[in-house]
Amino acid sequence: MDDCVFCSIVNKTLDKELLYEDDKVVVFKDILPKAPVHLLIVSKEHILSINHIQDSQEDLAGHMINIARKMALKYGVYETGYRLMFNVGKDGGQVIPHLHLHLLGGKFLEG
Ligand SMILES: [Zn+2]
Repeated sequence: MDDCVFCSIVNKTLDKELLYEDDKVVVFKDILPKAPVHLLIVSKEHILSINHIQDSQEDLAGHMINIARKMALKYGVYETGYRLMFNVGKDGGQVIPHLHLHLLGGKFLEG
């Protein structure tokens, strides 16, 4: 997807500091952080949203959550707590139509 900003980050045509990378995901800081720690765990594959995950891709969603746990540990919110969030579609507040998991922490997060 040429016009997808997350694909551009994954393909490194857009310069963005990656905090983590493996064969399935990249992790970087949200450009508009809503908490002291606000990271995005982003699939390398262009999948529009959780709605577009196939049964054969459920391992990917699990992997994203597992990497989020490791990032929570690395960025100091593992003990204090954090929130993991997949926004899906318009009413879910999904801004970029490319699968990503928000990790927020470092302050008390209201309901
Ligand atoms: Zn994309």
